[in-house]
Amino acid sequence: MREPPPRRWLHVRCLRPYCGREALIDPAARFGAEAGWPAAGLSRRFVCRCGGRAAHVSYGDGKPKPDNPCGWL
Ligand SMILES: [Zn+2]
Repeated sequence: MREPPPRRWLHVRCLRPYCGREALIDPAARFGAEAGWPAAGLSRRFVCRCGGRAAHVSYGDGKPKPDNPCGWL
């Protein structure tokens, strides 16, 4: 039996100084097909609780850290 491909996670970090909230999102559940996922790097598609609209987006594979301390979305 082949293993399924590792699950990808979307990591979003607020860029507002002294905020530093982060979120871990399942991009497939949130955005559907991969074509609609936000590009890695600077993104303005997210709004933080602090009101910041600039965020850094990156993708990771495998198991996410269990907690999403900020709960942005
Ligand atoms: Zn923020």
